[in-house]
Amino acid sequence: MQKSSLETLLQVIEKRRKLSDAEVELLKKAYLTSQKAHENQKRNSGEPYFNHVFQTALTLASWDLDTATIAAGLLHDTVEDTSYKLETLQKDFGEEIAFLVNGVTKLGHLKYRTSVKTEHERMEHLAENLRKMILAISEDLRVVFVKLADRLHNMTTLGSVPSLKQKRIALETLEIYAPLAYRLGMQNLSGELEDLTFMYLHPEEYEWMKKNVSEQYEERVQYLERVEPLLRTALKKANIEPIKIDYRAKRLSSLYKKLLRSDMNLEQIYDFVALRVIVNTVEECYSALGMVHQLWPPMPGRIKDYIALPKPNGYKSLHTTVFCEDKRVTEIQIRTLQMHEEAENGIAAHWAYSQAKTSKEFIAGDKSFSVKQADLNWVNQLRNWQKDFTGPDEFVQSLKIDFFKHRVFAITPKGEVIDLPTGSTPIDFAYQIHSEIGDHCVGAKVNNKMVPLDYQIESGDLVDILVQKNKKPSESWLKIAKTSAAKQHIRSVIRKETSVLRKGPQLEIRITASDRLGLIKDISSVISRARVNILNLTNIHPPSKTAFPIIKILCDIDSKEKAEKLIFKLKAVNGVKEINYQLI
Ligand code: MN
Repeated sequence: MQKSSLETLLQVIEKRRKLSDAEVELLKKAYLTSQKAHENQKRNSGEPYFNHVFQTALTLASWDLDTATIAAGLLHDTVEDTSYKLETLQKDFGEEIAFLVNGVTKLGHLKYRTSVKTEHERMEHLAENLRKMILAISEDLRVVFVKLADRLHNMTTLGSVPSLKQKRIALETLEIYAPLAYRLGMQNLSGELEDLTFMYLHPEEYEWMKKNVSEQYEERVQYLERVEPLLRTALKKANIEPIKIDYRAKRLSSLYKKLLRSDMNLEQIYDFVALRVIVNTVEECYSALGMVHQLWPPMPGRIKDYIALPKPNGYKSLHTTVFCEDKRVTEIQIRTLQMHEEAENGIAAHWAYSQAKTSKEFIAGDKSFSVKQADLNWVNQLRNWQKDFTGPDEFVQSLKIDFFKHRVFAITPKGEVIDLPTGSTPIDFAYQIHSEIGDHCVGAKVNNKMVPLDYQIESGDLVDILVQKNKKPSESWLKIAKTSAAKQHIRSVIRKETSVLRKGPQLEIRITASDRLGLIKDISSVISRARVNILNLTNIHPPSKTAFPIIKILCDIDSKEKAEKLIFKLKAVNGVKEINYQLI
């Protein structure tokens, strides 16, 4: 742990940006005021209380936040825990810092009531807490940053707190703070918080993991140390000088979740320690991938190009899993430094990570991928804005003004926060959780009261979707839904329904043609120009080189006359030899 000194704090900030004299003065004043206010206080561990607020400020500095937020970090416990009053703080430090400290103080009251007995009561309470958090977010995001930095330090020192309290704080961290950080895209922080709760909430599993994984981990790292120079030499041959190669160990808590799914078989988890290669350019990413595959054969189906097709949250990287030295299955990630920094450090670079969780269930390749991407434009916008700003002050300012203006944040009964564009309805909410929930939605309760499906969700609403197995989306939902993701899903279900119900005749066409480039494209464009729907198209490859390929097409056509006209046009397509057709 770094020593609590003003110099340390200033150094951490100045590594990132130049401080003005006024800023240094402000930080000095906050430092001394807080130190004096907490003078005789001790933490549970016996260390001076001031260490806690200092560490909180240090964390905020490492997140690149503005001076006012760092000062608020130093002062965040003065009003609640010392004789230093809010009015004095206002006079000494001005409205902005006083507002931040007061915001943190108010959030400090997010505590579990002792009267909470049933799971339902606990959930209600959790939702209430989240609602307060969301309100704070929409007022000034920086309040939540201070709270998160505060919680991070409290979690690292949780060992010296009485054990009953430990469990409660750990649970609250797992249920409120880690998901919130995740929601805000602070993926590293979220993982770290979750990992810190693991030993308190699952002590036995934690011991098991520590014992079993750490041995394997050591062994794994030794193995990767052996692999690294081989990779380096190979890259050099391709004239690639990697900026760095490092290993990434999966966090214990997330590894545990993965292990549960794979019958506790660590051998089946390839990425618990992965090699990461950072290079200079996108071109180098691809040539590095090529070199890796020349060295070691890739495992089919595990090459992922998130550069050409970034994850919905904007994550870019190349992933591959190879049969590495000694045929050991090893994951390798390749990305540029910029991609790496965006994925690791950008405090706002990950705003949408939770979306990745949802979209995995949708499976890429499905149209919803691009829809999700469009829904997340605000994330990209945010990221681009961040780049354009010279200092964090300006960035934070724009966050406050633009970021939350057009979004509402609602809560699931499980306490998960769902964000939606303003004007969204329970249908949008349902589809945002899962397409299955959307498809089978029959009604919704908001804050425990039944509402119509066209109800407009407000920030902080606790939304409970009622589902029925046989329910299907209706055409009228298209008018109610606001998000393109929901609309897309509704349309695709309706389309499927109508094609199943179709009773009218269909036209089956079999075309024999000489194979040439663009043949299929020409044929299908003739059909669509005739305003005929293609229901199915199969290209049957010829059994021998001398035979012609056959193209089988099923069309949506209802009259013989129309069919004959179409066939006439198709016969004119270059390369077509013969056409057979029938109405079925
Ligand atoms: Mn605190």
